[in-house]
Amino acid sequence: MLIAGLGWIGWQHLPREYNPFAPLHVADPLTPMTQFKLRRLRSDSAYCTTALQTAPLRTVPRPDAGSAACPLPDVVQVQAAVIPLSSSFLASCPLAVSYAMWESHVLQPLAQQYLGQSVRRVTHLGSYACRNVRGGTRQSEHASANAIDISAIALNDGRSISVEKNWKDDGTTGAFLRALHKRSCDIFTMALGPAYDAAHHNHFHFGMGGRFGLCR
Ligand SMILES: [Zn+2]
Repeated sequence: MLIAGLGWIGWQHLPREYNPFAPLHVADPLTPMTQFKLRRLRSDSAYCTTALQTAPLRTVPRPDAGSAACPLPDVVQVQAAVIPLSSSFLASCPLAVSYAMWESHVLQPLAQQYLGQSVRRVTHLGSYACRNVRGGTRQSEHASANAIDISAIALNDGRSISVEKNWKDDGTTGAFLRALHKRSCDIFTMALGPAYDAAHHNHFHFGMGGRFGLCR
């Protein structure tokens, strides 16, 4: 009891980003505890709602979205993020929060590090699709708006970097894309790219819905 009490007092003094019991704030730096907090978004909807309120996203609830085969009980339309989007997208709460973490803590810093540029625009191929995993009987993460497919990144200097065209580049653009995929695994439970299979030759699949994580 005493030890438990001391432990609790100890957690209270940790910075929020290291405290597993503190809410997740999108602006907080990534720490070894962040993945634990991101996983909790999936199992605790009140925790996720609180985290979503800290995200610099413009969202509207979409209670009308979904279908009988693929119901979406609690999704939002992400209308705008910090980095402009090619179009709005439907997202489960965990996907919306993770996307916000990803654009500020992974995408933007890596673009600066590898290319010396800010990202001006993110192009995606969609998030919600009522379908199974290709060639399988299991529902895709897209059937629950738990994943987004990212195909290209436009930079402030006018360059556009495409997963399809630049993934294998020898230079900095290829290195940037491969680092982006690898580091995205720190945020999303599922991060698939061209190295995974032919279906992903032109995009990154970033998801929060799978029972098991995969980073390929
Ligand atoms: Zn996908």
